[in-house]
Amino acid sequence: GLNLKIMPLKKYIRDIQDFPKPGIGFKDITPLLSNPIARQETLELLLSTLKDKQINKVIGVESRGFFFGILLAEALNVGFIPVRKPKKLPYETISATYDLEYGTDTLEIHIDAIEKGDRVLIHDDVLATGGTAKAVCELVERLGGEIVQCNFLMELTFLHGRDKLGDNEIFAAMTY
Ligand code: AMP
Repeated sequence: GLNLKIMPLKKYIRDIQDFPKPGIGFKDITPLLSNPIARQETLELLLSTLKDKQINKVIGVESRGFFFGILLAEALNVGFIPVRKPKKLPYETISATYDLEYGTDTLEIHIDAIEKGDRVLIHDDVLATGGTAKAVCELVERLGGEIVQCNFLMELTFLHGRDKLGDNEIFAAMTY
């Protein structure tokens, strides 16, 4: 594969200033998605932290968490569970609402997506303030699942999102 020392993964992340709003530095993963070698290397790096952890479900968070979420689930040969924005999932759901800078946001999961005792990996593209990941953890816990790890392509450490996730194991392929 790709030699991470020569071709660091960050080369495949494009910074877009002031998107979607002024003051936000958006981390665009589309260059990473479009390069099969970088994609494979990212997947292997994430998988290297998951050995012997007996994960049996991977959650991908809408929408950019779906990309590597499904790749991880496929590589681990386990189920993939989408966590989605309100009114997207067709069956019965539970929801968690969390605070944003202005207002709130809500995420939903199907009530039968997780069974008691499931060993769950939560995946998203970016850990920023941690509000999203915390809400997903709450959904998993309410359904009786055990959170084995939260993993991300990137962690924006200056936002201290990790502090919201308690004792949960956290891994990010890249940190800023
Ligand atoms: P947060 O809840 O603040 O941790 O934000 C995480 C969610 O927002 C993730 O689903 C990300 O996709 C998205 N997000 C937050 N900040 C960024 C950013 N700088 N670039 C791209 N996506 C972001």
